Amino acid sequence: MRTLYHNASVFSRTEYDSKDADTCLLVEDESIIYVGSEQDAPASDKQVNLAGRRVLPGFIDGHMHLLLFGSSLSKISLAGCTSLSEIQSTIRDAATSRSPTTYPRLFCSGWMHSMTDGQALASDLDDLDPHGRPIFIDAKDLHSAWCNTAALTDLGIDKSTPTPAGGDIARDNDGNPTGLLSESAAVTIVWPHVARVATTNEKKEYVKDAIRAYNAAGYTGMVEMATDENIFETARQLREQEPESFSIRLAMHWLITPAASEEEVLAQVDRAIELHEKYNKETSSDFRIAGIKVICDGVVDACTAALLEPYTAGLSNTASTASPAPLWEEGILRKVVQRADGARLQVALHAIGDAAVALAINTLETVEPRPGSQSRRHRIEHLELTSPSDASRLASLGITASIQPVHADPAILRAWPRLLGPERVRRAFAYREFAEAGANVAIGTDAPTAPHSALRNLYTATTRRSAREPECQETVNEGFKLSLVQAISAATRNAAYSCFADDVTGALEVGKKADFVVLDMQWNENKLLEARVVKTYFQGRCVFAESES
Ligand SMILES: [Zn+2]
Repeated sequence: MRTLYHNASVFSRTEYDSKDADTCLLVEDESIIYVGSEQDAPASDKQVNLAGRRVLPGFIDGHMHLLLFGSSLSKISLAGCTSLSEIQSTIRDAATSRSPTTYPRLFCSGWMHSMTDGQALASDLDDLDPHGRPIFIDAKDLHSAWCNTAALTDLGIDKSTPTPAGGDIARDNDGNPTGLLSESAAVTIVWPHVARVATTNEKKEYVKDAIRAYNAAGYTGMVEMATDENIFETARQLREQEPESFSIRLAMHWLITPAASEEEVLAQVDRAIELHEKYNKETSSDFRIAGIKVICDGVVDACTAALLEPYTAGLSNTASTASPAPLWEEGILRKVVQRADGARLQVALHAIGDAAVALAINTLETVEPRPGSQSRRHRIEHLELTSPSDASRLASLGITASIQPVHADPAILRAWPRLLGPERVRRAFAYREFAEAGANVAIGTDAPTAPHSALRNLYTATTRRSAREPECQETVNEGFKLSLVQAISAATRNAAYSCFADDVTGALEVGKKADFVVLDMQWNENKLLEARVVKTYFQGRCVFAESES
C-alpha cells in the first residue's frame, strides 16, 4: 500500500526553507520511499491532502520519565499555586472530590520549594483530608517529596530509619522525620513505594495514558531516563499484550543509585548489561535498554546542584551557602562508567551545576573518544550551569548535550539571581555554545518535571521566553537561544542520534520509517505557542488525529 501525502510543506532538510520546501511524502507500508515535488512523485494507491500544513519528523523526547509522567496525568496539580495556603486549599478541594475507595492515597505534583519558602512540613498537610489519607507531594523537579504524617507511616519511615547515602530525610531535633525526603531518599524510598502500591493494571494504564498523550503532542519516540524493574516490566508487559497501543519507539536508561558498597552499585550496572543483552538495537530496536543513568547532583532550586563556587544565598536566610559535593565520588563513578561502556552501553550523567558537569566530562573522558572505533554517544543531562570551556569539551569527546529548554522558562527561575548571583546567572542554559561548538544537542522535556509539549519546549528554546506566562516579556540569556531549525533538529534528528535511532527515524528521508507529525504552524518561533498538532503518524499509521470542530 502506497500513500501519497501531498500539498504540504515538508521539513526534509536542515536547510529547510518554508517558501521552497518539498511538498509531498510517499509512504509504502511503514517507510518513506519518496520526498519531493508532486509532479515527480511515483504512483500511489491513495492520496491524502494535507491542506498546506507543515510536516515535521515525529518528535523524540530526549529525556523523560514514562511511568511518572503517566501517573502524573491523574495527580493533583499544584503547579498554579504560589503559597502554602493555596497548596492547602487545592489539596483540600481535591480531597473532597476524590473518594477514598478509588483514591486510597492522594498524590500531588508540581510543588516548588520557592512556593513555601523552602519549608515542607508534614504538619502543614495533616488536617487537609477528612479521611486522613496519606498525601504525597512531588517537587516539580522530582528531586524531593513532601509527605504528611500518614504518608510517612505508609512509607514505614520513623525515627529509626537510616538516612540513605546521597539523600536526606528532614528531621526535628529528636530525629523524628518532619515530612521532606530529598535526593536519593525520594528516588529510592518514595518513588518505588508509590510505584509498588499501584496495581499492575493501573501501571499499564499509566503507560498507555503516557503514550497516548505523547502521540497527541506529536511524538513518535522517547528516551526513558530512570528505568527500574518496575517501569521496565510494566512497559514490557503492555507491549507484549497490547502491541498496537505501544505506538512509540522507546529507548531506556537504567537508573543506577548510590549504595552502601561498590559491589551493590556495580551489581546494578550488571543488571542493565543483562537486560541490554536481551533488549538491544539488534534484537528489539523499538524497545530496548540503551544504557545507564547516573544522577551526579541535585538541582539549583533546592541548593543541591554541585557548584564550583558557593551559592550566593541559601534557601532561607539562615541556611548555609556552601555547595554540596557531587553525589558520587570520582573513583566509583569511573568504575560504573567504564563497566557500562565496556559492555557497549550508553552512559547518561545527570549534571546540573558546573562542578557536577566538570566531574561528568572528566569521567566520560576516560572512555571517549575511542581511537579507531565508533563513539558510544555518551551523554550529559541538563547542563544548566556550565563553564565556558565545557562546550568544546563536549564536542570533542562526542558527548551529547541533552537539554530541556522548558527548564529555562523565566517563570520558574525567579530564585536563581539570588541563589547564583548575577554573574553566574548569565552563564545559565548555554545551549547555543553547545551547538556552535559542534556538540550533538538533543532536546527533551524531562516530563513530568515539566510539561511534555514539544511545541512549548521549542518556544522556550528559540525565544528564551516563558511558555507558562506567555504575556511576560522576560527572557533568560537570550544570546544562548537556538534558531528554529536548530531547535527542531535537536528535537528530532539529534534526539534520534542521541540514542542510536538515527538510522530509522528522526528525519524525513527515503528509507526512514514514516514517523511524522502534521502541524498547523506558522514558521515563526514567536508563534509556536499557537501551533497545533493535527495528526501524528507512527510507522505510516495514524496514531493521533485532532478531532474535527
Ligand atoms: Zn529527568
